[in-house]
Amino acid sequence: MKKAIVVGSGAGGATVAKELQSHYEVTVLEAGKEFKPFAMELEGLEKLRQFGLLFDEREIQFVIPTFKIRRAADEMILVNGIGLGGTTTICTGNALRLDRDLKALGIDLDAEFEELYREVPVTTAHQKKWHKVTRRLFAIFQELGLEPQPMPKMAYGRCLHCGRCQLGCPHGVKWDSRQFLKVAQEKGAKVITNCHVESVVIEGGQATGVRAKNGWTRHFFPADLVVLAAGGLGTPVILDNSGIPCEPRLFVDPVLCVAARSPKSMQYKDITMPFVSTQKHIILSPYFDHLSFFFNRDWRLHAGDIVSIMIKLADDGLGSISRQGVDKALTDQDRRRLDEGVVICKEILRRFGAGDEDMFLGTVIGGHPGGMLPLTEKEATSFHSDQLPENLYVADASLLPKSLGGPPILTIIAMAKRISKICQSFVVRPAPSEESSGHRPEKVIMLEI
Ligand SMILES: Cc1cc2nc3c(=O)[nH]c(=O)nc-3n(C[C@H](O)[C@H](O)[C@H](O)COP(=O)(O)OP(=O)(O)OC[C@H]3O[C@@H](n4cnc5c(N)ncnc54)[C@H](O)[C@@H]3O)c2cc1C
Ligand code: SF4
Repeated sequence: MKKAIVVGSGAGGATVAKELQSHYEVTVLEAGKEFKPFAMELEGLEKLRQFGLLFDEREIQFVIPTFKIRRAADEMILVNGIGLGGTTTICTGNALRLDRDLKALGIDLDAEFEELYREVPVTTAHQKKWHKVTRRLFAIFQELGLEPQPMPKMAYGRCLHCGRCQLGCPHGVKWDSRQFLKVAQEKGAKVITNCHVESVVIEGGQATGVRAKNGWTRHFFPADLVVLAAGGLGTPVILDNSGIPCEPRLFVDPVLCVAARSPKSMQYKDITMPFVSTQKHIILSPYFDHLSFFFNRDWRLHAGDIVSIMIKLADDGLGSISRQGVDKALTDQDRRRLDEGVVICKEILRRFGAGDEDMFLGTVIGGHPGGMLPLTEKEATSFHSDQLPENLYVADASLLPKSLGGPPILTIIAMAKRISKICQSFVVRPAPSEESSGHRPEKVIMLEI
């Protein structure tokens, strides 16, 4: 059987591994280790904070190794997950279909979304168990005409509302991509952890495999097909190391929380992002921001005494990451739009009972990186850039043409499913009637048997 290397085990990588195994002999190379949810109670870390021992967001990696923190300009930090399951293990389970920009390119992912809704249970049933603070905030959003909607969540049927989603669900309730990985492994896929892929080896215009550091040693992993799914901050670096430049169009969906003192409101003990209000360039949602709570000096209150609203921005796709590091700043327009969000959040908090003197801001955090190998109209059928060898594909957030300003996981899974169908067609010769279907790749097909 032909060999496929899939790099990364997050939303895109785990999907491709599941869909390709049994068409190919799949090996997933994952830079991180097994994921473990954060076990400590917040109060324990509050003590460290009181003693001034928490001062740099990068320290979070000592307690939750999956968190990878990078510093960008303007005191913005970028967060992603390095470990089995990628960033999906630290996500807050939000499940929205956001493929409008892909549709505009002529990409119809209806079939893939239908498939994935059969595989990933999505629910708003958590609404029945919202705590008092959440119900009050929902009513205020309604009063202000912000049209809040309960957030669809991935598999929150048995949710205990402990509020720790982004620290990793300790109760195994929330869906993450390790579930797809497990299916791939049951079908025979191999998964190698602690294996950091550095570059794709390209010879005679074809990818022949990847070079990776596994522990202390370097290895070459040969392959007939390589799929990069190392995420919006990982894939561009691997491509850069392989001599393939990406476009400087990095977006990160910056988040800024506006918080206030609210004694015993206990928001941190309820579900994260329980509902959402969608405005033109931002979304607003209740969100207890753990990174600001641990590391931002303005967040010195007890967790139970803070109420906080998140602004998430669809930022300008301007920035890049390469082996030289990350180059990303907020544009003037990004700042203006965040400021508009701050005004709305302050009004929400006033109605909640907070005084202006009790309000404070969080750290700006970008957690949805992507956009550096954006799909174009020309690639609407092939999902393949001319920049890449024929047998090298990308299947992660790098493909998104623009910032979604909202949760990308479902849309990435749908794209990864489509790419898997395309790659499957290289090894299983399609019946003549299928040859004219939309999934037939335009260029072909060194792997066809
Ligand atoms: C705190 C937080 C909460 C979020 N909540 C939500 C949410 O509720 N809903 C939602 O839709 N989205 C959410 N997101 C965003 C979402 O998780 C990511 O956008 C999505 O997982 C990206 O998928 P991906 O496949 O592009 O990359 P990832 O899921 O990040 O996967 C990339 C994988 O590649 C691996 N990797 C990286 N470099 C290498 C290398 N060189 N070699 C080998 N392996 C490598 C990584 O370890 C990782 O496993 C959240 C993000 C954060 C930070
Ligand atoms: S609120 Fe708690 S139980 Fe519910 S999904 Fe999040 S971490 Fe799991």
